[in-house]
Amino acid sequence: MTAETGNDGAPVATDSEARRRRAADVAGKDGATGCRPGCGACCIAPSISSPIPGMPEGKPAGVRCAQLDDANLCRLFGDPRRPAVCHRFDYDAELCGRSRAEALARIAALEVAT
Ligand code: SF4
Repeated sequence: MTAETGNDGAPVATDSEARRRRAADVAGKDGATGCRPGCGACCIAPSISSPIPGMPEGKPAGVRCAQLDDANLCRLFGDPRRPAVCHRFDYDAELCGRSRAEALARIAALEVAT
């Protein structure tokens, strides 16, 4: 495995490491349900005002984040350049629903309402 560093020289998780850590990090608190790795709805439906590498103005609602990879996983997981808002966004059974389609629709509705 190749060691990677961010702009500040801090170590950055490699893809496989980041995926493993993301899956562990987002598991539901009760262990029964939780974030669906590969969903990516929260990286598409909401607007994000913070700068994101590749999207210096942030991103509008409904636009795929430039850091969301083909497997719908964040390329910046474990990277200090990942916006703080992304780190704070947590799995919520009501908001995330039972499928990616439900999550996209519910997060989009919340975006419009707020
Ligand atoms: S930076 Fe990562 S977690 Fe944040 S919206 Fe983009 S892909 Fe999702």
